[in-house]
Parts: sequence; structure tokens; C-alpha cells
Amino acid sequence: MRAIRRFTVRTVLPEPLAPLSELVLNLRWSWHPETLDLFEEVDPEVWARVGHDPVALLGAVEPARLEELSRDRRFLRRLADAADDLRDYMSAPRWYQTLDDGPRAIAYFSPEYGITSALPQYSGGLGILAGDHLKAASDLGVPILAVGLLYRHGYFTQSLSPEGWQLEHYPSLDPGGLPLTQLREEDGSAARVRISLPEGRTLTAQIWVAQVGRVPLLLLDSAVADNDAAARDVTDRLYGGGTHHRLLQEMLLGIGGVRAIRTYCRITGHAEPEVFHTNEGHAGFLGLERIRELTESRMTFDEALEAVRAGTVFTTHTPVPAGIDRFPRDLVEKHFGGDNSWPTVPVDRILELGAEPAEEGDRDVFNMAVMGMRLAQRVNGVSELHGEVSREMFAGLWPGFDVHEVPIGFITNGVHAPTWVGREVMELAGRELPSVVSRGQGWDAVDRLSDSDIWEIRGRLRERLVLAARDRLRASWRARGASPTELGWIDQVLDPGVLTIGFARRVPSYKRLTLMLRDPERLRELLLDEAKPVQIVIAGKAHPADEGGKKLIQQIVKFADDPAVRHRIVFLPDYDMALGQLLVQGCDVWMNNPLRPLEACGTSGMKAALNGGLNLSIRDGWWDEWYDGNNGWAIPTADGVTDPERRDELEAAALYDLIEREVSDRFYDRDGDGPPRRWLEMVKHTLRSLGPKVLAGRMLRDYVVDLYAPAAASARALSADAFEPARAFAAWKLRVSRAWPGVRVEHVETSGLGETPQLGSSLLMEATVNLGDLSPDDVAVEAVFGRVSAQDELIDPSYSALKLESAGDDARAHYSGTVPLDRTGSFGYSVRVVPAHPLMASPAELGLITLPEEPAGMTNGTLR
Ligand SMILES: *Cc1c(COP(=O)(O)O)cnc(C)c1O
Repeated sequence: MRAIRRFTVRTVLPEPLAPLSELVLNLRWSWHPETLDLFEEVDPEVWARVGHDPVALLGAVEPARLEELSRDRRFLRRLADAADDLRDYMSAPRWYQTLDDGPRAIAYFSPEYGITSALPQYSGGLGILAGDHLKAASDLGVPILAVGLLYRHGYFTQSLSPEGWQLEHYPSLDPGGLPLTQLREEDGSAARVRISLPEGRTLTAQIWVAQVGRVPLLLLDSAVADNDAAARDVTDRLYGGGTHHRLLQEMLLGIGGVRAIRTYCRITGHAEPEVFHTNEGHAGFLGLERIRELTESRMTFDEALEAVRAGTVFTTHTPVPAGIDRFPRDLVEKHFGGDNSWPTVPVDRILELGAEPAEEGDRDVFNMAVMGMRLAQRVNGVSELHGEVSREMFAGLWPGFDVHEVPIGFITNGVHAPTWVGREVMELAGRELPSVVSRGQGWDAVDRLSDSDIWEIRGRLRERLVLAARDRLRASWRARGASPTELGWIDQVLDPGVLTIGFARRVPSYKRLTLMLRDPERLRELLLDEAKPVQIVIAGKAHPADEGGKKLIQQIVKFADDPAVRHRIVFLPDYDMALGQLLVQGCDVWMNNPLRPLEACGTSGMKAALNGGLNLSIRDGWWDEWYDGNNGWAIPTADGVTDPERRDELEAAALYDLIEREVSDRFYDRDGDGPPRRWLEMVKHTLRSLGPKVLAGRMLRDYVVDLYAPAAASARALSADAFEPARAFAAWKLRVSRAWPGVRVEHVETSGLGETPQLGSSLLMEATVNLGDLSPDDVAVEAVFGRVSAQDELIDPSYSALKLESAGDDARAHYSGTVPLDRTGSFGYSVRVVPAHPLMASPAELGLITLPEEPAGMTNGTLR
């Protein structure tokens, strides 16, 4: 019989063990091995049985054992030390505390968080990144206050049918059985946030706090008795349900999230955030809620919009259009208009914010990414290449501007080393590379590591993966209906001495799970090579609704089921953080073969690199940026080839060749029994060159310095004097936008070129601009110059401001300046007028630009 309701009864700890619950409730244990050792000591056997989940441990351990521990002086001393260490970690000044003017607090919004497999509130890269972001923020003392949703079924766990088809299970989670505490009002009642819905309904949520080191993570949970059945199910599962369900989740995350932050700050005295960072578009409604807050104290929509934009950072995470949230416009209209409209936030203005650009967009769609970009003054992609791709993808929002001027920058993702790096590696680094461990600096010292130390640790990590893979494979075959007596062969699956390639990912089509199966015969040869065998460990989940992805998994599973190869290739079900850790630590090579440029960044290869693994990847995402020819291998991409079949074929062939000729060659190149010297050279070079870049600490510093601090400065500038600058800025934007059609470049003249223009000379440029109703203070007039294409298009031009010479009464203003002829080859120039205001973060911010009607570019000058 099924239970109609479940809950978890927590143990009452004997008084001397009270610090244990403090340790369990702070998720710092998820990246602190010493604390995990202490948990293990509570009861090693139970610890293994509950899969290293400390809350489950305390629920399962016998009271007699707890009594015993409460009298064990040695254990109590260790417990006291661990608790002291945590308190010290929580309060000691860190990197952020050395900064002068950082924001008092930063709110961080994400629909999913991968902190530990014991809190399964993530599906893939976005969530893992968010988890690493919080942990690195905690380590650096960055005052982030994070918000998400608590999904009662989390993400599904995966198993396989006898035919190798993906099966999904949604275990129900009880917050009482998770490392969470409930946020309560001073009177002890549960803190609540409420959102009104159409037809007089209300969506209510309670708030759970996951303490991630120094960072509080607020998780909203709609499973409360005040809600009707439909509202209760809003946070039932991650990325499940239809469009309407998803809209409600996003309203709760964005609007409810801001309200939860206000509630948390009121109850605990935490500083109010000055910056709001939204991790992908799902939380975009947070901007509307903040506009609502401000408009209720007598600001207009436009004024509030300016104040909100200044302090908002938006990170886009995918160049795949299907990865972007788009709602039917009507649905948004219904939820923010009609009987559910906010009196001071007109629904028409909301719909405008989410409207796709007229030329390429769909009028019936409300696009969350587009709204995110309009509500944030600072926008970034997650690798250099992804920044470029995003500028192209969203260029329609800034018509008239060159693609490279689209105001979307990039900060390349990083990974949290203490979470992903094997303990042995951390310990070696602690002994030999202390400044790398404490400050992330001094990576050149990697050269001093001895080959035999590294090789010995690599061997241990590989062996751990092999043993765990056998256990998981056995469990998987049992679940597929095999009896234990048929499974003897599993003891020989994988070999701790063989070159091990890891390949794990979610399974959307662009990641090309099955590229390696393109030529099955060739793959078999690689696996079964007598002298230089290769083994492959694969994992990944397909989205429950993605039949195509499930077919790909089935193809892999069928291939790996073949008795001829099954000792060299395995598919391990239920890819989660725990399996991810085993894989990135145990594999010698991390393979990644997405369809370039659809992988925004990718982070698994970074995790592998920090563990002494090497990357074998398509030059996409981070690998395009940091591959240097010697720190791994780049699979050549057939970028220009439009036939996808042909492209896959070419890239697969290149992949096989690389593995056969370069990767395994190097791995098996040994002097007698010694470690592979040439292989380890590459490992050390990888650590030296990538180590300083791939750390999440580097990423966090970049966010603080390049985005959070400037956003806080802008927000402060606009909110000074009771928001007077925000009002003035909004009024200025309105005035400039209205008057802009009157701006014209009337005349451009150049001199100083002579007969044959020469490198190093310069060009004198004079321009006459009719400013209409604007004044010279409102605009910047700039020379635009550089290389030109055969079609006279300026390629990656430079800009230089022209100086105002005189302004007459007739709205005409005269400008002049010089343009340096600083490169040989075809050269061209033009002039442009853009709005100018000290509070703008980019010339493209208003989307206004005026160019000469007749292109003034001259292309005949070929410089020598
Ligand atoms: C690191 C990780 C991801 C993200 O991997 P990408 O390489 O960025 O796609 C997803 N899931 C798990 C379990 C991970 O550990």
C-alpha cells in the first residue's frame, strides 16, 4: 500500500553531540573531506549504506551508538575541532573583505543548484555551475544570497530496461530528510511568500534555507496546505510539466524569489542586495517585481526600469534556441494583466520587454532571454566563443550596431576544485603546491612534481573508477533482470591499467552522444587493440520527453552489451554528481564532441584537467579559448560542411585517428615499467596552463570585478538623492529617443591623404551633424575606421571620438579629428552619431545610431 504522505523524523542528538547537527546543516561538508571523515566515524557501515548522506546517517544510526559517541572523549574532541574550524571558516576575512567598495550583498537566482548528490536539485551544467558559483563565493567571502526552488521530486533518477531504454523514477523528497532548515518568523510561524494569480487564486510558498558555507540559499516550496492542489504542484519537479506549469515556476522563482529575499533580510538582518544576478532567463520576472516595488513609491515605470537595470546582471547560457524559454504571449498577458495586473506596472510594458525583435522574431511569443537583456544593463555569455555567438544571436535587439558592439561580454565558467578534485590530488597539492591550494597561484611549481607521484595517484583514481563502475554495472544488470549467476563476467570489466576515456553529458542532440559509433568496426578495433587498448566509460541522461535522446542512449547501451567489447566499453546509468566525481577523477582522457559552436562552455573537461586528465575535444566553448596545441588534443571540426551526415563522418574519422595515432601512442610510450614520461609532460603542461584559468575562484573574481562592482556602482549612482538620477536618466532617454529621428550626418570631409596613402600617416576628418532638437552634450560623434571587405563593409572597425569644434544656432554642429592609418591593406572609414551619457554602460544601450546617408567610406586607398 502507498503512503499518502511521508515525512522524516529527525534524531534527537545527545547534548554533547549537538555540534554534529550544525556540521550536517552546513553544506560545506560537501567539499570538506575532514568533516566527511568525522561523519564516517559516527558509523562507517551506516555511512556506506546511506550513500554518504549525513542527514540520512543521523536518521539511521542506532541511538545506542550515539550514546556511546557522546561519552567518547576522542570523538568529542574531533567534533569540537571540526565545529571550531567551521565557525572560523564562516567568519574569517577572505579575499572579498580586502576590496574597498564591493556590493554589500548580491542576490543570485537560478532554477537549479548542484551542490551535492544528497540534494538532487539539478539536471545538468546550469545547476552544477550555480553550485560551484556559490561554493567559490563562500570560499572567497563574496556576500551572495541565492534563491531557487525546492523540487519535491528533484530531477529523475535513471535506470535501464532490459532493452536498454531509459527509465525515469522520481523519488519523492521530504525537506525534513534534506540538509535544510525552514525560515521562520520571530513568532515561530513558517515564513511565507504569496503571489496572486488570475481568477483570484493565490500561490503561496514556504522557504527552506540550505546553508552553503557562508552563502544562504533560499529554496521556495509550494507544497503547503494553503495552496489549492494545482498551486501545490508548482514546485513538484524540475523541468517537468507544460508551458503553464513552467510559467508558474518562473513567476515563483523571480517574483517570489525577490519577496523571499526581502523576508530573509527582514528576519535575519542580512544586508539587502545591491546587485541582482540572474543565471539564465528563467528568473527574469525578478526585474518586474523590483520595478513594482519602486513604482509603488511614486516612481514611474521608466524611472524604475532604469534603477533596476543598473543593478542587474544577466548571464545567458546557451546558443541553442530550444534552450531559451519562450512563452505564448497570451499566457503572459493573462498572468500579468486583466484581473491580475499590478496597478503600477502596465502589462503592455511587460509584453514589450519580452517581445522578440520585429524582423526575425515571432510576434506571439514572450521571450525570457530577450526580457532578461532588456532588464539588465550588464549581460554576459560563458566563454569567449559563446560571447561572440550570443552577440550574433541577439544582434537584432541592437539594430544598426555592428555585431561586435552588441553589449554582451563574456566570463568563462570555472569549476570548484575542492568539489571535483580527488582527495589524493588535493593532498599532493597541499604538500607540494601550497600556494596553489591557498591562493590559486604559483602553478609553475607543478614542474617540480615527480612523475612517479603523479602516476601513482592517477593509477589509484583509475582503479577506484574501475571498481565503482563494476558495482554500478552489476546493479544495472540486476535491475535489467539478470541473475547474479550470469554476471561473473563483470569482475573482468574494465582494466585498471588501460587508457581510460570518459564521456558523460546530458543527451541533447548537439552533444552527439553517438558520434563514436559512426564506424562501429573502427571503434571495436580501438577498444580491442592488443598492444594499445582503449576503454570508454559513458554516462548521461536524456530529458524525459526526448525520445530521440533515449534512442541514442539505447544505441550506446546495445553496442556496450556485446560480449565481444563489453569489457572495454560501459554505459553507467544515473549520471549525477557522485558519478561525475568518479569519472572526472578516474579518466585519463575527457572526450567532448559537440556540434560547434553549440556548447556554450562545458566544464567537465576542466574538472578532468585539474585531476591530471587530458582533454580530447572539439574546439568549442572553453576549449576553443584555452587549447594551446600542447595541453591536450583538438578534434578538427568540419565547420563549413553543411550536410550533417557528412560532417559527423568527417569529425568521427578525425576522432578515431587522433585516438589511435596520438592519444594511445603517448599513453603507452613507456621506458620499461616506468611512468609514461611524454604523457606526464602533457599532464603537467595542462595543469600549468589551465590550472589558473579553470578555477571557479577565477570566475568569481571576474564576476565581482567586471560585473558586480560596476553594477553596484551604477545602482548606487542612480539611487542617490531618493533616485533623482534615475528619474533624470529616464527623462533623458525619453527625450533623446523622441528627438533621434532628427539627427543627421550632413557632411563628411577628409584631407591629408596625398596621392598614395602611407602607413603611419593620418587622415584629418571633419563632419557636420544636424542635431535637431538635441544638444552636443547628448551625443558622441565618432570616426569609424579599419579594414573593409570587398562589399565595403568595415570589418572589426575602431572608433575614435571626434571633437566638437563649433555649434551654431541652426542645430548644426561641426566636429573634427584625426584617424591614424595604422595598418596596410584596404582601409575605409565612416562616421556615426550615438547617444552619450555618463550612466550608459555601452554606446548601444539605447539602440540608437545615425550613419551618413551616403556611405562616406573610401576603399580605393590601399596602404603600403
Ligand atoms: C560537470 C557536470 C555537468 C556539466 O558538464 P558540462 O561538461 O558542462 O556539460 C553535468 N552534470 C554533472 C553531474 C556534472 O558533474
